[in-house]
Amino acid sequence: MLRYDPIMQLEFFGAAGEVTGSCHIVRVGGRQLLLDCGMIQGGADATARNRRAFPFEPAAVGAVVLSHAHLDHCGRLPLLVARGFRGPIYTNPACADLLPILLRDAADLAAREAERANRDLARGEERVEPLFAPEDVDAVVRQLRVIDYDTAFEPLPGVTVRVREAGHILGSSSIEMWLSEAAAEGAPSAATTRKLVFSGDLGQYDTPILQDPFAFAAADLVLMESTYGDRRHRGREDTARELGAILAQAARDGGNVIVPAFAIGRSQELLYLLARHYGEWHLARWKIFLDSPMAIAASRVYWKHPGRFDAEATRLRAGFRGMPPLPNLVLSESADESRAINQVRGGAIIIAGSGMANGGRVLHHLKHNLERPECHVVIVGFQAPGTLGRQLVDRLPEVHIHGRRLQVAAQVHTLGGLSAHGDQEQLLRWYDNFTHRPPVWLVHGERAAAESLAAKLRERGARATVSQPGLQIDPAGLPALAHDSPHP
Ligand SMILES: [Zn+2]
Repeated sequence: MLRYDPIMQLEFFGAAGEVTGSCHIVRVGGRQLLLDCGMIQGGADATARNRRAFPFEPAAVGAVVLSHAHLDHCGRLPLLVARGFRGPIYTNPACADLLPILLRDAADLAAREAERANRDLARGEERVEPLFAPEDVDAVVRQLRVIDYDTAFEPLPGVTVRVREAGHILGSSSIEMWLSEAAAEGAPSAATTRKLVFSGDLGQYDTPILQDPFAFAAADLVLMESTYGDRRHRGREDTARELGAILAQAARDGGNVIVPAFAIGRSQELLYLLARHYGEWHLARWKIFLDSPMAIAASRVYWKHPGRFDAEATRLRAGFRGMPPLPNLVLSESADESRAINQVRGGAIIIAGSGMANGGRVLHHLKHNLERPECHVVIVGFQAPGTLGRQLVDRLPEVHIHGRRLQVAAQVHTLGGLSAHGDQEQLLRWYDNFTHRPPVWLVHGERAAAESLAAKLRERGARATVSQPGLQIDPAGLPALAHDSPHP
């Protein structure tokens, strides 16, 4: 029997028609590779969907190439490993450093969720097992293979990959991939090579700290994210000015400033913004607390990778001889250090998780400051319905924290413009770098956002398709547009 399977195929599995659960299957010469293996997040059935069987045999997957460490891109790796995947997981050095922090936190959360479910178990009901265990995370970490940015490597015969900057969070990458049928065993001599570019998650062009997304010139097909494919963000400079004005007002009022922030990305950006405007905003009069062990761990990973910084961050770091350039930053790691902040009545900027104030240390700070009119709360990220953060954004006059009712007297501000994703204009700018208008499959977006971006791409003469789970395409059947090689 001929072992060679001539099919070159791309199949969409997760983040097709929705934002989370990023996972795409690449088949070439009878071998399979996954681009990401993300967790489905949000929605009542998310946990159940995450537990479902993969539409492929995990043991038959040859390798995974991971774009970045956000859970919706890497969160099902522990399950993949637990279910039999033994191959290498390739990613860049910064992502490899962030990944264990995120996955260990997710394992803790899964354990707590299972414990809660088991507490309310009716008689005869089966016990709930956590989605994955810490040992599964250890196995993922053992299977990691670190590859440098901008360096070609061969994860499988017939597949050459190079990862490029995506400017979304530290260690985020876009992936370019040359698929070649001829390299597979028993293949006909006429080589068919097609180049696929997977955007991963794309950041805004002027994202603090990080370099801009890499400008690709050539591809035969493009997989592109579309999270904000129908949106325009507020400018970053306007957003920074707004934050400066809030801090000036807060200084006059004499209270504290509480900022619920995600541990990875947003917390580091905020510290960086404060550092950049340190003199201009007279920040020496404040004490700045980063009150989150996870954010502190993630920050250390950020500071460890200055090679990924943009020119401005590189300059700031050099001027201060370290990161972050904030002399009055206090990292509160222990619970005691965190509790001590509760005694501070004014002059503190407190950045703490969780980002949507639905748990974590920020709840204690809100409890101590929400009822005081001289205090300010600054919301810097998306707040899902049902979270305390959302209630604050919606200006509810009273909220509950740890069973206590609180009148909201503090001033609440919502800062737009700090999104980690490019908006419609920036996504189009990224696509416009391609010289031959390669066909695009849109992933990682709600249907309306993806459709809106597809319409804009079609106006540019591109063939744009909104992907669906289970949709299969044959790259070899597409015209060859890219004639670049991974080995210049
Ligand atoms: Zn992401």
